[in-house]
Amino acid sequence: MRLLLVEDDSMIGKSLQQGLKQDGYAVDWVRDGQAAKLALQDAEYALMLLDLGLPRVSGRELLAELRRQKNPIPVLIITARDSVTDRVEGLDAGADDYLVKPFSFEELAARIRALLRRPGGAAEPIIGHGALAVQPATHEVLLHGKPVHLSGREYALLEALLRRPGMPLSRAQLEQSVYGWDDEVGSNAVEVHIHSLRRKLGPDWIENVRGVGYRIRKQP
Ligand code: CA
Repeated sequence: MRLLLVEDDSMIGKSLQQGLKQDGYAVDWVRDGQAAKLALQDAEYALMLLDLGLPRVSGRELLAELRRQKNPIPVLIITARDSVTDRVEGLDAGADDYLVKPFSFEELAARIRALLRRPGGAAEPIIGHGALAVQPATHEVLLHGKPVHLSGREYALLEALLRRPGMPLSRAQLEQSVYGWDDEVGSNAVEVHIHSLRRKLGPDWIENVRGVGYRIRKQP
């Protein structure tokens, strides 16, 4: 799942990006409001983490503009501003939730999962497919009721495929859902993850579609 992080503080941005990547999200990080606008035109994000005090276009202006355009992306504001007025203004401008810096990474991760679980958010409680079930909120994977341990990227790849059962996804589409811009993507990275998914889940779940890409087999 792909997130957009809008934060001009390098230290905070870097540590959030690292932590979220370890949780299995693809994270694109931009440092001002204008760059965020361009990113939003370019890619599909499940959620945006938005600082309010930003160069060029402020977080509040950006958010207000998105909501005027009826863009429904879930937005979690992360900001140092701690006055009640600021909070109310942020929520009034269309934010879904609010965290005041400094906050613990665990709390941020929990709030993100909660937003992604909401109706209209990108994730449903559980995605089931035959004997396979994944829980987007916790990244748990069960096969015949037994947990299977996947890396963050293996999980992201599996979830992307399960969201479109029977439909092939190209290698480029899969890379989009697993990697952010800053990630180095080896030329056979997707193949490597598919290989280890087949090793962990069994060979029959994911099939190659010649000249197109991969899909989850409809009737496993
Ligand atoms: Ca800032």
